[in-house]
Amino acid sequence: MNVLLVYAHPEQRSLNGALRDFVVQRLEAAGHAVQLSDLYAMGWKAALDADDNLDHQPGARFDPSQDSKAAFANGRQRADIAQEQEKLLWADALIMQFPLWWFSMPAILKGWVDRVYAYGFAYGVGEHSDSRWGNRYGEGTMAGKRAMLIVTTGGWASHYSPRGINGPIDELLFPIQHGILHYPGFDVLPPYLVYRTGRIDQDRFEAIRDELGQRLDNLWQAAPIPYRQQNAGDYEIPALTLRPELAPERVGLGVHVADFEG
Ligand code: FAD
Repeated sequence: MNVLLVYAHPEQRSLNGALRDFVVQRLEAAGHAVQLSDLYAMGWKAALDADDNLDHQPGARFDPSQDSKAAFANGRQRADIAQEQEKLLWADALIMQFPLWWFSMPAILKGWVDRVYAYGFAYGVGEHSDSRWGNRYGEGTMAGKRAMLIVTTGGWASHYSPRGINGPIDELLFPIQHGILHYPGFDVLPPYLVYRTGRIDQDRFEAIRDELGQRLDNLWQAAPIPYRQQNAGDYEIPALTLRPELAPERVGLGVHVADFEG
């Protein structure tokens, strides 16, 4: 299988750097092909702007969506964007690895998403009409591929528990897992989380590697998070609200997970 690892940490000798090397070695030892997008090492341009459409004329109004659409359709995207899209098409699985920074991904990784997820590639795919909102949330360009996050946090597991002060980790990661991964079609596996990174000695580091190694070994067998599909009948058309008989009386992010019991 082919795995794309998109990785964001500025320091090679960090915990994340060590885990990145471990991920590559473990997957390759199991016979998988791995491509690594090490965003800081690549000097990745994080900001989406007019330079991303090679046909954009100086002084013309820049429309982030429409310029993205035209550049993608006409083969006039910047080469760095097109190369990352090729890697995504090549991959059977995408792993995004990063330290939690301000309860989200580092800006350089968000910039990878903003730029690589072009109109016509990751969104604006399929029929858009009064009764259909395209192929997304379980369908789309990435359908049939798997994705998983590897995230490290300074905070403790309890801080991210259902009643923890930071908010439940599943909810904090929802915009990434549901919005960035499920949206263009990925099957999203439960994340691998390393909490309390300030307290890692050699024993714990080895335990983390063992656990992460098992998750990687199980990449093609693990059950994805059962996010609901947009076009499978769970949502009312055209409002795209969850049908009232599903998770009745419940609101919040968890209702978009099919086995939600609240
Ligand atoms: P490092 O600092 O490199 O390493 C952590 C520890 O791991 C080291 O002290 C060492 O004990 C051990 N270690 C490292 N490498 C090895 C190795 N090769 N072998 C054995 N042990 C090793 N945290 C939150 O919880 N929520 C937030 O919102 C949040 N926001 C942040 C925002 C910013 C801008 C920053 C800078 C940090 C933030 N943090 C937050 C903390 C951040 O998530 C952690 O600092 C980060 O996850 C640690 O990962 P690292 O790779 O940088 O670890």
